[in-house]
Formats: sequence, structure tokens, C-alpha cells
Amino acid sequence: MQKVPIWRQIQRENFTSISSLLDFLEIEEKSQIDADPRFVLNLPRRLAEKIQKNTLNDPILRQFVPLVDEKTVAPGFVMDPVGDKTFCKTGKILQKYRGRALILTTSACAMHCRFCFRQNFPYETQVTGFEEEIAFLEKDLTIEEVILSGGDPLSLSDQSITTLFARLDAISHIKRIRFHTRFPIGIPERINDSFLNLLKNCRKSIYFVIHCNHPLELDDEVIASLKKIQKLGIPVLSQSVLLKEVNDREGVLFELFQKMVNCGIVPYYLHQLDLVEGTQHFLVSDIRAHALIQYLQENLSGYAVPRLVREIAGRKSKTRICL
Ligand SMILES: *Cc1c(COP(=O)(O)O)cnc(C)c1O
Ligand code: SF4
Repeated sequence: MQKVPIWRQIQRENFTSISSLLDFLEIEEKSQIDADPRFVLNLPRRLAEKIQKNTLNDPILRQFVPLVDEKTVAPGFVMDPVGDKTFCKTGKILQKYRGRALILTTSACAMHCRFCFRQNFPYETQVTGFEEEIAFLEKDLTIEEVILSGGDPLSLSDQSITTLFARLDAISHIKRIRFHTRFPIGIPERINDSFLNLLKNCRKSIYFVIHCNHPLELDDEVIASLKKIQKLGIPVLSQSVLLKEVNDREGVLFELFQKMVNCGIVPYYLHQLDLVEGTQHFLVSDIRAHALIQYLQENLSGYAVPRLVREIAGRKSKTRICL
């Protein structure tokens, strides 16, 4: 019998019951909480432990706690704002941009972010494995890079990733494999020896992109886990989402990106919110977003300032926000 890896055991401890989370956080004022959300609560313990007690006004909590605000109907906020469904090439491949194809490897995540643009995505869960996807990639010689996304690709077992890597390794026109993951922020134990070994054994160039929104998310243990990946010569980049009352202040973003570059992590994108139904309370205006970037440009090294972008369905790339 295969031993259950430690990270899976840790994952089972995630908060998935709202009442236990509220008890743990000693939250008394519950009128703003949505006790029965469509997108269920899922929050790793170690993130919950960083949250201030007895307040809803916490930058980590705000990202994960279901609020009644999510029931607000606002014009322009829809189920699939980035048009993902129309770009599906197979059950699990999304291709919007030239040279790159994205595999929705799994619907599972280490945590559930309330602002997730894929929270309503109808994931293909009937077909296991990636036969159809591999067949598609083999045929399209223009694809140089495969992006492993989801959900979170690190929810897959090391065995599944190894099998997928072996298939990708055999396709000569594929040169790069990119991970898009938030897993290490919630469960840094995921970056274990077995995972590091499979990265080491891959012959393609690997890029590792983490999703991180607040400096509190990057603690010593998380940083140490990412350092192990960097030691393999794999670039670690970051994506962040600009979120009202989470990270929409000069000081918070300054600290976030300064911390990243101090750890050798390159800030890649700062995303404007995708307008998913029920996320209106996270929206920051473009004018404000631009002012924040201006501040960062004046106070950080050039490479520490991410590109401010938004996804517009139908465009050939992410769109930079310029005023
Ligand atoms: C964002 C995205 C990518 C990656 O775009 P880059 O600009 O190369 O980071 C690829 N495919 C899809 C479908 C995407 O949404
Ligand atoms: S980790 Fe990423 S894919 Fe998963 S819920 Fe959060 S934003 Fe969505």
C-alpha cells in the first residue's frame, strides 16, 4: 500500500466548515458571513493561524471567507468573465495565446480564493489522465510551452505529475513547462524530496509561477520551500491579484514585491480582478491601480514591479493597463 504523503495529511486538516473557522477565529459578529456559499470554504490551517482574531478586517481572512457581499448582483460581473469555455481545445486544454497551451490538470486546489476567476468552471472530471491532451499537443507543432494550471497542479500526486512529465518529455517541440500554483502558500510541505526529484529529472525547462497576494503569505517556511526549487535552477515568478482591502495600499504592495525580490522571486503580473459574479467587493479602479504601480515604480527596482494587466476575452495576450 502506498503511504499517504505528509502534505495530503496536512491538507485534510483544512478548514472546510464555516462554523469551526469562526470559532477558531473567535468571530462574534456573523451577520456578514455567508454560511452556505456556492463555492465552499477551503482554508489551510497555517493560513488560518496567521489571521487576526475576532475581526473580519484581515487581509488573509478576506481572501477566503464567504461574505454575504458575494450575493450582490452587479452589472458586468458574470460566470465566465474571461471566456475560458470557448477556448477549450480538448476536455482539459485551454489555448488562447500563440505558442502556449494551458492544461486544466485538476479542479482541486490547496485553498479556495473567493475571487477565483475559475470558481464556476465546468471542469472535465469524468476523464482521468491526459491522453486527449497529449494527442492534441503532439499534433500542434507551434506549441512550445505547456502551462500546468487548474485548479492547482500541485494537487496532483507526484506519480501523476511524473507520468505527465514523461509524456511531455517525449514531445520534441515542447521546450518549456510552466507551473501556475498557489499550493506552497498554504501547504509548503508539498515541496518535498519526491516533488523536487521529479523536477530535477525533467529535461524541459521549467518555470514556477506562484500566486501570492500579501506579504503575510510569504513566511519563512514558504520561502524556504521555494528556495529548494530555485536551487534547482528553476526560475520562480509570481502573480498577484489586486484586491480591495487586501493589498490595495502602497505600503502593502511595496512590502510584498520587496520581499519577493529579496528572496529571488520575480514579480511577473499584477492582475486586475476578473469580473466573476459575486466578487464586486474586491474591485479596485484602474485609476487607483495605476497610481499604485506608479508608486512602486518610484520606490522599487525596475524588475520588482510587476506588469499591471487584465484579461480581455478574445485578445491575443493579457492586456497591459495604461492610462
Ligand atoms: C494567462 C494565460 C496564459 C499565460 O500567458 P502569459 O502572458 O504567457 O503568462 C496562457 N494561457 C491562458 C489560457 C491564459 O489565461
Ligand atoms: S488557488 Fe487559484 S485556482 Fe484555486 S481557488 Fe485560488 S485562485 Fe482559484
